[in-house]
Amino acid sequence: MKAYDYLVVGAGLFGAVFAHEAALRGKTIQVIEKRDHIAGNIYTHEVDGIQVHQYGAHIFHTSGA
Ligand SMILES: Cc1cc2nc3c(=O)[nH]c(=O)nc-3n(C[C@H](O)[C@H](O)[C@H](O)COP(=O)(O)OP(=O)(O)OC[C@H]3O[C@@H](n4cnc5c(N)ncnc54)[C@H](O)[C@@H]3O)c2cc1C
Repeated sequence: MKAYDYLVVGAGLFGAVFAHEAALRGKTIQVIEKRDHIAGNIYTHEVDGIQVHQYGAHIFHTSGA
């Protein structure tokens, strides 16, 4: 069995960002996700060209940097 530096349970915002940042630092990560998509509760799917938030509306206030 292959060994990983981290096992991340859940590919939501936290798990996905953590896995990305760890990979950038040379770590190996196994991500497991029970849903059939990534992004957790911020997941969107496209309907008639519009991104619909499947689990409820989200607005993210970021620095944009
Ligand atoms: C209706 C709603 C509106 C919101 N609006 C905003 C907003 O406007 N702005 C904002 O900043 N935040 C908002 N939030 C909060 C935001 O959704 C969360 O802070 C963020 O998505 C949490 O990310 P997370 O990765 O911690 O968890 P989640 O998004 O819950 O991801 C966890 C993932 O882990 C998976 N998982 C769980 N258990 C297991 C298991 N045993 N095995 C495998 N996989 C597993 C789940 O399927 C899921 O994909 C809102 C939340 C909701 C519900």
